[in-house]
Amino acid sequence: MTLKPCGWQAFFEDQIKDHEKNEYIPGRILSQSKGLYQVMVEDQVLKAELSGRFTFHHQSQKDYPSVGDFVLVKGQKNYDGVRIHRLLERKNYISRKLPISGGRKLKNDLIDGGVTEEQVISANLDYIFIMMGLDGDFNIRRLERYLTLCINSKIQPIIILNKVDLVTDLDTYIKKIQGVALDVLIHPISVTSLKGLDIFEDYLKPGITVAFIGSSGVGKSTLSNYLLEEACLKVKSVSKSSGKGRHTTSHRQLHILENGAMIVDTPGMREIQLWATEEEVNHNFRDVEELMQSCKFNNCQHQTEPGCKVIEALETGELDPKRYESYLKQLKEINNLANKRKIYDKRLNKKERLKAKVKYK
Ligand code: GDP
Ligand code: ZN
Repeated sequence: MTLKPCGWQAFFEDQIKDHEKNEYIPGRILSQSKGLYQVMVEDQVLKAELSGRFTFHHQSQKDYPSVGDFVLVKGQKNYDGVRIHRLLERKNYISRKLPISGGRKLKNDLIDGGVTEEQVISANLDYIFIMMGLDGDFNIRRLERYLTLCINSKIQPIIILNKVDLVTDLDTYIKKIQGVALDVLIHPISVTSLKGLDIFEDYLKPGITVAFIGSSGVGKSTLSNYLLEEACLKVKSVSKSSGKGRHTTSHRQLHILENGAMIVDTPGMREIQLWATEEEVNHNFRDVEELMQSCKFNNCQHQTEPGCKVIEALETGELDPKRYESYLKQLKEINNLANKRKIYDKRLNKKERLKAKVKYK
């Protein structure tokens, strides 16, 4: 009998055709970087590359394996690893739009237009923990964005309210959340005061894959470290990998816990906050954006131009100068984030992007 990788289900098993059963074995993608993969096959972590045939037949990023994906692999002569021959259909996935060609311009300091392609960040998740901090981080609009992301991706969201040690009026926060998320479970916790952390035992069961999202500073790393080290959920040491234990597995993006539960931690998941924030500003300041769009000149800088609706509204008091100021401040922050995102995009595999460009010409 062949051992199946963690998280394997009938949904994946059913996709294997009879003739494939003797030739290939299933594996799960643990990490991905520049066309090199780490795949969990049976009880081993193996290096993997895409087969030539696979690369030939698939051009779009979305068809390439991503962290959490199940694939069919086969050993190869003269190659110390395996080749990925087929990507099995995903139960669900989280993706982002990746800009791949020109025609883009900065509109209100945000990247706009151009051809984008969908890039899968991680696949086959059972739960997404949306983390919010009960400090300056609490933001219902952002929570709505994250919930939409989960629902659109067909992944069950669970809300984690961290830092309960900082507030006395927890109920107020919970009521606010219930106003936008009636059916979603909410768990108030404090990682640093070790409060409420046993709830994770209910979720992190064998074969279950989870991910955390939330702005930076909410306590995701503190919580992950706790779950991976302190809790009885130690990271599994896997045979045939170069060594054992957590330190050698730190570059992996899918952590397998001793009990067979899995935590996804990819740079892409960490960057989700960048796109959530852009939309927040647009949504929160629709009135200001509408004013700007009605200025006489398309390229109005809202400084001294004639026919500037923003200046007019500031003069008549229709637009509160404080509100305008806070809009500008948030835009500036967004701009910084957008720059960060550009750097992040640059880091993506150049080769794959070139290929994508050719296809979309
Ligand atoms: P991340 O950016 O989401 O990974 O957040 P970190 O895990 O780096 O945490 C950011 C800060 O919040 C750190 O200084 C943590 O010590 C602090 N922190 C995390 N959990 C708690 C908590 O339950 N209560 C309080 N008061 N601080 C916390
Ligand atoms: Zn103007």
